[in-house]
Amino acid sequence: MTAKQRILVVDDEIDVGEFVSDAAQAMGFECTATTDAKTFLDQLTPDTTLILLDLIMPETDGVELLRMLSQQKCKAGIVLMSGVGKRVLETAEQLAQVLGLSIVGRLQKPFRLAELEEMLARNAEPATSPIVQPGAQFITHNEQLRRAVERNEFVVHYQPLIDIATGRVTGVEALARWQHPERGLIFPDYFIGRMEELGLIDELGWIVANRGMSDVEQFENGDGKALMLSVNASVYSLHDLKFPDVLVSIAEKHGVSPGDVTIEITETRLIKELARTLDILTRLRIKQVKLSIDDFGTGYAMMQQLKIIPATELKIDKSFIQEMSGNDRDRIMVQKTIEIGHELGMQVIGEGVETQEQLDILREKGCDIAQGFFFSRPLPAQEMVSWLKTYRSQLVH
Ligand code: C2E
Ligand code: CA
Ligand code: CA
Repeated sequence: MTAKQRILVVDDEIDVGEFVSDAAQAMGFECTATTDAKTFLDQLTPDTTLILLDLIMPETDGVELLRMLSQQKCKAGIVLMSGVGKRVLETAEQLAQVLGLSIVGRLQKPFRLAELEEMLARNAEPATSPIVQPGAQFITHNEQLRRAVERNEFVVHYQPLIDIATGRVTGVEALARWQHPERGLIFPDYFIGRMEELGLIDELGWIVANRGMSDVEQFENGDGKALMLSVNASVYSLHDLKFPDVLVSIAEKHGVSPGDVTIEITETRLIKELARTLDILTRLRIKQVKLSIDDFGTGYAMMQQLKIIPATELKIDKSFIQEMSGNDRDRIMVQKTIEIGHELGMQVIGEGVETQEQLDILREKGCDIAQGFFFSRPLPAQEMVSWLKTYRSQLVH
């Protein structure tokens, strides 16, 4: 019998480690998650076949760890994980190669369950034993997710969208969070993919849409105009022919004009499912609902496809925004996206704006809207109300 493959994860975020080990265990691997370099090195044994390594950690970071692994002549395949942008990942990968390590992949955070599973399947063979059961934890999580829907444990946070030319807030994006009774606030990358697999994603979508449309009324930017509400939709939800009607009826129930609602769908998924979703997208537009192509630049939308999608907005993926000050290729990508978007009559949003410099570049390139931690992190409704008030008073001066 072949020995069970051993996977080790090191990431200072506990959630990420758990997410990876749950998925790995469900696929039949033995997987241990650690949150710091020291425990990781203690756990590292010669039979470790795959290592998932977070580049950014508070004490010993991933780059230092790579050096240590090289000194130990580590033979395991290494997957680099990071939320800092793909260029950093590329550089670290080159370093690792120089150090004689075997890099077998990278995961740009936040990554989805499907990406992770694909990575694991590609790089490790599950134990040959035919009676591999999904890890007990995994089952619990699925059950917990079902219960979370029943018990209404999801909450919505809001992040402002800012008109770059005037500084005014034009809208908010609704972002789901799971308020877990024991584990606290859990972020969507941990549960969206799984809810899609469990067929719970439509319900989550309606929970967020209902909450968002009921909350948006309280948000004001001072000019008396309603703020726009952006809601993320899974492409799976767009397979449902009734989606546009249900959405509009929720809007009507809350006195929100459908024209003040934007549905965001990620580029990669949208392109894959274009044939199946185009009619729904068109019906949404007929009903005045706006459409945004999210995480733009991460997929491979062709001009041909872009032209036929009835989108009103392009949202440049934050990896480009965050790399553009030091990287010509990303800056060109941003500039071209803005030009293409405008040529097709779309509004262009830069997401993940964290610095004044990034905002200045976007302004110079003619980008319409900015969103990011530079203005505010996503906040609960009440905190968003106060944030808007403070922001408005600063804007006047
Ligand atoms: P997204 O739609 O691309 O949402 C933007 C994500 O970027 C949010 O992560 C937000 O917190 C984060 N972000 C915003 N500004 C910055 C910044 O300046 N720097 C950095 N580093 N990050 C920033 P979040 O809330 O964790 O959501 C992750 C993803 O989960 C979303 O990505 C979206 O695809 C999905 N999601 C969230 N809520 C829902 C939902 O209700 N339904 C569906 N189907 N998906 C959702
Ligand atoms: Ca979004
Ligand atoms: Ca995005």
